Amino acid sequence: MTREPFIRVPFLDLKSITEKYRDEIQNAVLEVIDSGWYLLGETVKRFEENYANYIGTKHCIGVANGLDALTLILRAYKELGVMKEGDEVIVPANTYIASILAISENGFVPVLVEPNQNTMEIDDSKIEATITERTRAIMIVHLYGKCAYTEKIKELCEKYHLKLIEDNAQAHGCRFGNRRTGSIGDVAGHSFYPGKNLGALGDGGAVTTDHDDLAEVIRKLANYGSGKKYVFEYKGCNSRLDEIQAAVLNVKLAYLDEDNEKRVSIALRYIDGIKHPQIIVPEIPQNGNHVFHIFPVRCKTRNCLQKYLQTQGIQTLIHYPIPPHKQMAYREWNKKSYLISEEIHATELSLPMSPLLTTEQTDYVIEKINKWEN
Ligand SMILES: *Cc1c(COP(=O)(O)O)cnc(C)c1O
Repeated sequence: MTREPFIRVPFLDLKSITEKYRDEIQNAVLEVIDSGWYLLGETVKRFEENYANYIGTKHCIGVANGLDALTLILRAYKELGVMKEGDEVIVPANTYIASILAISENGFVPVLVEPNQNTMEIDDSKIEATITERTRAIMIVHLYGKCAYTEKIKELCEKYHLKLIEDNAQAHGCRFGNRRTGSIGDVAGHSFYPGKNLGALGDGGAVTTDHDDLAEVIRKLANYGSGKKYVFEYKGCNSRLDEIQAAVLNVKLAYLDEDNEKRVSIALRYIDGIKHPQIIVPEIPQNGNHVFHIFPVRCKTRNCLQKYLQTQGIQTLIHYPIPPHKQMAYREWNKKSYLISEEIHATELSLPMSPLLTTEQTDYVIEKINKWEN
């Protein structure tokens, strides 16, 4: 007989997060149901306006998911004649596979750049050496919710006339100075996958940009390549955010900053409390540059730590166990080595993190970690 493992601190309790906004979500969804209008309507339009305002861009285009957002951005650059197949796009070697899939899906060549071992974000000192005549863009990923943008990246984009694309799937609400990530580069892709800081109750995504031409092409591409009913300019696809998800997102967007602040305060408590010689915690965030989608610690014997925490009822995850260049999907890269990325993938462990984590739960995790005898 197998017993359910007891869970004292869940990694992320989505059910409780939804429960917190249940009444408002229910009303918003019922309004859509009763309206009889389920796609490309007023609710999506309202969310696009709200989210563009929140991020600080002129345009927001709702799409079906985060991968589509990134794929459509690159596709639009092709349609605009800015990029062509075979061009190179620089991307961090340690990202969720979707960032890289969006590049290869369009026939571009992803050029992987190692992260900085401490920040785990793309190492801006290693970018310039990878730029060639075919490089057209840099895709930065605000991994774990931490801003990956730097002045150096901006200088490189200017010097080599590269587009700057942000993968903001994990960093809604994150800041660089007084700007939000998602408004810093030329264009950004966002995911509203349920577990993200701003999550729908299903799939959802968005593109934000200040560029009118790019926004227009992406909107058309996502709607069969059409700007006008039954007139098709591009061989487009169907990638829409639906009215029900937009209704949910409108409710949750109003609480995003508050929820992010809770994440940051839990992170600070972890950073302050975890004192174990074999565990490395993230750096203290500066000026809102981290919204802790994930709280990543690093440990050489990560698997032992994970097993031990499981026996204490503490759920953890690994983001991510296998680096993209070691995946079967990219078998052409399997013999390459990106040592820093590999080290991070081998040592990273994500502690429980959610706006609903209590002080007691956080302290329980800290206490058990500090008592760990390896
Ligand atoms: C979640 C995620 C995506 C993809 O988003 P989906 O909505 O699941 O398609 C892209 N990039 C990163 C970094 C992500 O974490």
